[in-house]
Amino acid sequence: MRQITVISGKGGTGKTSITSALVTLEKRKVIADCDVDAPDLHLILHPEVKDSGDFYGGVRAAKDDDKCIDCGLCRQVCRFDAVDEQFNIDPFKCDGCGFCAYVCPTKAIEMKENLSGHWYLSETEYGPMVHAKLDIGEENSGKLVTVVRNMARNIAEKEGYPYVIIDGPPGIGCPVTSAITGVDAVLIVTEPTMSGIHDMERVLSVARHFGARPFVLINKYDLNEEMTEKIENYCKEQDVPVVGKIAFDREMTDAMVQGKSIIQYKPEGKTAKAIRNAWDRVKVELS
Ligand code: SF4
Ligand code: SF4
Repeated sequence: MRQITVISGKGGTGKTSITSALVTLEKRKVIADCDVDAPDLHLILHPEVKDSGDFYGGVRAAKDDDKCIDCGLCRQVCRFDAVDEQFNIDPFKCDGCGFCAYVCPTKAIEMKENLSGHWYLSETEYGPMVHAKLDIGEENSGKLVTVVRNMARNIAEKEGYPYVIIDGPPGIGCPVTSAITGVDAVLIVTEPTMSGIHDMERVLSVARHFGARPFVLINKYDLNEEMTEKIENYCKEQDVPVVGKIAFDREMTDAMVQGKSIIQYKPEGKTAKAIRNAWDRVKVELS
């Protein structure tokens, strides 16, 4: 079984369009949507939720008013400005450090597990899908990404799927690290702009650090062919295969607007063919 994460370093490179194309193209896979802060694969795959669960991403201070003697010690020690003048604790500001509970003379404060989001195990027309949603303002998305990934891997192993295709979060922070740790490969979707190259370089170094084999897919390559050549040269120097180049295609956007992947929308179009070839190349390289 092979795990492949699609990442881009930042939003706007067409990563979601590419990922939705891959997951509607490859039949034998489990889908893991690891963009838990802003998941959007469900808009295309219309998952039917079969199971779901709570995600607890840490602890928060909770006060028992009956035990509180208004001494104010908790407010004095809180470095996160989470305790107001009436000594009420704001759960959105609380970092869960536990200092207030430690100093409270009457043991009025308890550190409680904090419900931060939910995970979902769903069926789609294109196979099983694991996805999640972190509540607004919550942190620990890296931990939730790990939950999603573990579930997807377990399903693939148990049911004999040869691939787990992971839609990675944007950026290069902690959730991305969780989305690429231990995967076989990352497919970096980039675009021919200065920031595109810069983001690709950063993502590449993260992927390498975590031992994931990198592949590059250049989206909208014809918008700046000189820059595309730069990306190709850089990849050659770095010994990173460029598995495909996709020309700008207005139909990619049209497909998304209609809630479809380009594979569903225009299966015989040039973009669908280019993505098919790129995916075939990734599979050959990983075999
Ligand atoms: S430290 Fe405890 S007793 Fe004092 S104000 Fe805070 S909660 Fe109330
Ligand atoms: S747990 Fe830490 S951050 Fe939260 S209210 Fe107490 S002292 Fe402040």
